[in-house]
Amino acid sequence: MKLDVNALRYLTTDDFRVLTAVEMGMRNHQIVPVVLIERIAKLKHGGTYKVLKNLLKHKLVHHDSSKYDGFRLTYLGYDFLAIKTLVNRGVFVSVGRQIGVGKESDIFEVATEDGTIMAMKLHRLGRVSFRAVKTKRDYLRHRSSFNWLYLSRLAALKEYAFMKALGEHGFPVPNAVECNRHCIIMSLVQGYPLVQVRQLENPDVVFETIIGLVVRLAKYGLIHCDFNEFNIMVDDDEKVTMIDFPQMVSISHRNAQMYFDRDVGCVYKYFGKRLNLSFNDGEKDCDGHDSDNEGSNRPSFSNITKSEGLLDKELAASGFSHKEQDVIDKFMEENTEEMNVDDEDGNDTTLSTDLDSLPLDDLKNAINSITDEEVENDHIVKKMQMLHIYLLR
Ligand code: ADP
Ligand code: MG
Repeated sequence: MKLDVNALRYLTTDDFRVLTAVEMGMRNHQIVPVVLIERIAKLKHGGTYKVLKNLLKHKLVHHDSSKYDGFRLTYLGYDFLAIKTLVNRGVFVSVGRQIGVGKESDIFEVATEDGTIMAMKLHRLGRVSFRAVKTKRDYLRHRSSFNWLYLSRLAALKEYAFMKALGEHGFPVPNAVECNRHCIIMSLVQGYPLVQVRQLENPDVVFETIIGLVVRLAKYGLIHCDFNEFNIMVDDDEKVTMIDFPQMVSISHRNAQMYFDRDVGCVYKYFGKRLNLSFNDGEKDCDGHDSDNEGSNRPSFSNITKSEGLLDKELAASGFSHKEQDVIDKFMEENTEEMNVDDEDGNDTTLSTDLDSLPLDDLKNAINSITDEEVENDHIVKKMQMLHIYLLR
């Protein structure tokens, strides 16, 4: 499905105010009652319902009246909030073509004011079922309730934190530029995923580099857990970059050995089968779970000694428990302001939101080229008009 740039181009401040109100309401409601949306949005002249109808038309919210009259954000609505915030911050000015579709993400090119192209990853954890997410990943350990907004935001935040830390420790990863909601902005990796590379000039060198990365990660206390030909990028000079970190775990994870062996096994299997590399032990290992390592150079988990630092402790890689929760809270504190609203039961609930997409003053500051006249016309013009959004689904 191709989605129209016009929706973002012509959304008014009221539209964004109501969209943000729905987002805030979703912190404690799967479906946010209209009365609560009205209360949060506090539109001067009322008219929240009319705005909601407009948002619905653009597929930014979903209407549900099965239990009561309410709305929830769609992924597109969430995308728009993240994109708008990042545009307001001056991180980029336009969104271009889609360059990747992962299991749980969509990747687009974005361009900065000076024309630099970067990559935007939008996490979509709701795409697989909750059960699959829960068994596969560890995000939810200390959380009884969940929603896809929370999960996707957590995945993005975790990936961003890892990308930054790994980059700072000299690992070949994209440069982590910004993070907002479920969205990460990173440098664009030149080259292709290994799976698309037919031939390598020096397959043995590339192989050694890649296996070296798995071992070095483990020395830092980390296991990638999805280290395969889809998440390893290789450029024309056969330089390797690794991507995709939301599932990384600590080497003290109870299944660490299995994950480590699987990562190593994937690399051996791929280079053996697809790139016809033979290994030092003389055997081509294609099954990916051969445990007979004796006499071979294949790295084994038991030989890894954590020597390079304690990145796993720093990042508490295995799921977001209390420590990660603190990170998120801190992150949210830095990025949000508190706002008190009454929920539908009349209880005072503290909700927070990204206010640079809310009041007119903030908006004016953020989009500094916007004129008073344009603001009075209630349209986010100027910079937003520069957006060329081709959101393909
Ligand atoms: P998922 O978690 O959904 O698998 P990935 O992070 O692996 O998502 O990204 C999916 C695809 O998008 C990758 O295989 C790659 O082709 C492309 N991609 C991701 N990040 C970048 C980047 N920084 N630069 C260029 N291409 C990228
Ligand atoms: Mg991937």
